[in-house]
Amino acid sequence: MSGNEARIQAIHRITNRQLTPPKPPGRLEEIWAENVFNLSKMQASLPKAVFKSIKNTIVTGEKLDPSIADAVATAMRDWAMSKGALYYAHVFYPMTNLTAEKHDGFISVQGDGKVISEFSGKVLVQGEPDGSSFPNGGIRGTFEARGYTAWDVTSPAYIMETDNGATLCIPTVFVSWTGEALDKKVPLLRSIAAMDKAANKVLKLLGHTDVAHVNSSCGAEQEYFLVDANFTSQRPDLLLAGRTLFGKAPAKGQEFDDHYFGAIPERVQVFMQDVEEKLYKLGIPAKTRHNEVAPGQFEIAPFFEAANVASDHQQLIMTVLRHTAKKHGFTCLLHEKPFAGINGSGKHVNWSVGNATQGNLLDPGESPHENAQFLVFCGAVIRGVHKYGPLMRAAIATASNDHRLGANEAPPAIMSVYLGTQLEEVFEQIKTGTVTESKKKGVMDLGVDVLPPLSKDAGDRNRTSPFAFTGNRFEFRAVGSNQSVSGPLIVLNTLLADSLDWMGNRLESELAKGLELNTAIITVLKEVMEEHGAVVFGGNGYSEEWHKMAVEERGLANLRTTADALPVLKEEYIEDLFSKTGVLTPVELESRFEVYSEQYILSIEVEAKLVASMAKTLIYPAAVEYLSKLSSTIESLAGLDIDFEKESASKVAHLTKSMAAVANELCTAIEKHDFASTEEKMQYCAKTIRPLMDRVREFADALEGEVADSFWPLPTYQEMLFITYGEGMNSVVVDLACHDNTVFLGLLVISAKCSRLETEEPMSMRCVNGLGLNASRCKIFLP
Ligand code: ADP
Ligand code: MG
Repeated sequence: MSGNEARIQAIHRITNRQLTPPKPPGRLEEIWAENVFNLSKMQASLPKAVFKSIKNTIVTGEKLDPSIADAVATAMRDWAMSKGALYYAHVFYPMTNLTAEKHDGFISVQGDGKVISEFSGKVLVQGEPDGSSFPNGGIRGTFEARGYTAWDVTSPAYIMETDNGATLCIPTVFVSWTGEALDKKVPLLRSIAAMDKAANKVLKLLGHTDVAHVNSSCGAEQEYFLVDANFTSQRPDLLLAGRTLFGKAPAKGQEFDDHYFGAIPERVQVFMQDVEEKLYKLGIPAKTRHNEVAPGQFEIAPFFEAANVASDHQQLIMTVLRHTAKKHGFTCLLHEKPFAGINGSGKHVNWSVGNATQGNLLDPGESPHENAQFLVFCGAVIRGVHKYGPLMRAAIATASNDHRLGANEAPPAIMSVYLGTQLEEVFEQIKTGTVTESKKKGVMDLGVDVLPPLSKDAGDRNRTSPFAFTGNRFEFRAVGSNQSVSGPLIVLNTLLADSLDWMGNRLESELAKGLELNTAIITVLKEVMEEHGAVVFGGNGYSEEWHKMAVEERGLANLRTTADALPVLKEEYIEDLFSKTGVLTPVELESRFEVYSEQYILSIEVEAKLVASMAKTLIYPAAVEYLSKLSSTIESLAGLDIDFEKESASKVAHLTKSMAAVANELCTAIEKHDFASTEEKMQYCAKTIRPLMDRVREFADALEGEVADSFWPLPTYQEMLFITYGEGMNSVVVDLACHDNTVFLGLLVISAKCSRLETEEPMSMRCVNGLGLNASRCKIFLP
């Protein structure tokens, strides 16, 4: 196929596509957690004592009694086989943000050649995938490839149904032969334990005698794009890099914000329902769905859950989104910036900490006592973000998220805390020591004994802050859409553990001096604000002034790229933080730096190679073919006495030549391999390779604006963003209240160019002839 033929065919297939008929959704109560081996299924199938023991482990974090494993394994296998599963998989989460699994059959061959189904406690508890091909950052040479997966009892096993059958999936941790964490789950569980310990100590100092296990909660909002698979299959960049490396901005982008919270296109709605049904069966509480700002962009948010489960569920949401999209003829793009010039996708990680006895510790609460407690926890977060802001930045550092952070659509790379005006004022008062009754209504009086309820203002939001307090939780808004939420959660829990530990010690020493509790609290919080108040910022995070002020006046770090951010993991104070909280050993931390850096370098190298090859093998030939056609046309017109301009031809020639030259430069640049360190190589990727890629793109995109559409091989932005949906977003509704032929003629002109036109009543030929127009409302589907 040459020229734009493949594109035309794709558009034809899409616009003539039969919508998958929506299935009536199953009754929520009936399908909920149908595919999860949860507590109620365990209770129904396990001996009483076994159930009691495992429930204790799950609910209160008690150590797992290995002697019950066989009984649980048998019950789990019987349940899974009754649902059609013949295989089981230990699912784990390597450092790559992905989900990995190794499948094994329940089958066991006996001496006499017969087979039985078998699943013992031993294989439930421990697996041994050949871990050598998972990045381990040097922890484990391939010669000693043993990596172990171990059952994570706190995250329930489930059945994954695909068109190829059902598999029993067992969430596990992944550790090396020598016991080091090779995944994102081990440090997450450790960070929760560290935070629990420190929170416990503080809560006891605050006078609580009954303190349950403190856990952290997470509710993550997931943004994504849907593009018709007929288009993505023609875009090597979307297939291999998940984002467009070329593409001229369409005449209409997201300027009108007309997509945001608009009607969800029918085809997408059918897809979403399918996704939600699968998630409900997996016990994942999908709650919110809507269109996002950019055309073709959507969001799904589950109800929040315990961090470890939320994190596993988040991985499953991404998997289900991708798989289901395929079934509906879409490609689900989870990349942070699939389209230049169009808003990217993030994952807002809503995070809080709490327990069964004191509730949500980041909730201001009703009583003075609860408010004092809230201020302590909130102050601890402020201190943590100030001390470890660069680490938070490192936790969201990926090649793809770099495209989004700091652009005018996502938070800057500078970590700050947004508290809302009321709370900011409270902390300011604590800092200046003027803790008198505030004149402002609803602001609490910080007299030491009386702390009346803090009024919550849900409307008080700041979209430009990377880390915002939203009433009873913090929202980490700078996390990438593609990322596992574990990394950010590990950092938040760990920095809070460190801060609470410090708070506890400081409170203890103030109390030892004989200070009354509330006075001690105010004293410690004052110290926090004096030392760390610079991180609190309520203004516009996108503004130039903030970028300048943050760095120059407040001393906050602005780590623009992943190459700048990842070396933070090698700093001594970060190593200390992870060592003393027991979340990561120095070896484990070092290995993470190695893995993340390697991922960064690899993804830029892949993209750079793609840029060069697409420029040379797709765009260059199209431009040259067009140029040849153009010049021969000009020549053939030379005999006529018309002054035909040659400007366009020479522009195409110039752009084509320049693009090819920079593409060659890029090819040479990729060849460089002699770097003194990983850090140096990352900087080279950020400062040399990326700008070269951008320059190739500039010429290519300019060419897209010059070369005749019939020669252009790649599906355009306009097509990918506006044709995919068939209905809903790319239609206009026109009211035709009058019998006016001019309106109708206008409509005919438009309809000749549009893909479809519908009237509320079927439009008859009479209407088309403009004879008796009586349609009251028309829906026009734009091309
Ligand atoms: P918005 O778009 O206004 O930020 P959404 O309703 O889309 O809000 O998403 C908010 C997310 O925060 C949901 O996942 C919700 O369950 C979660 N959430 C609510 N309360 C808490 C909490 N205390 N801790 C953690 N997450 C929470
Ligand atoms: Mg949000």
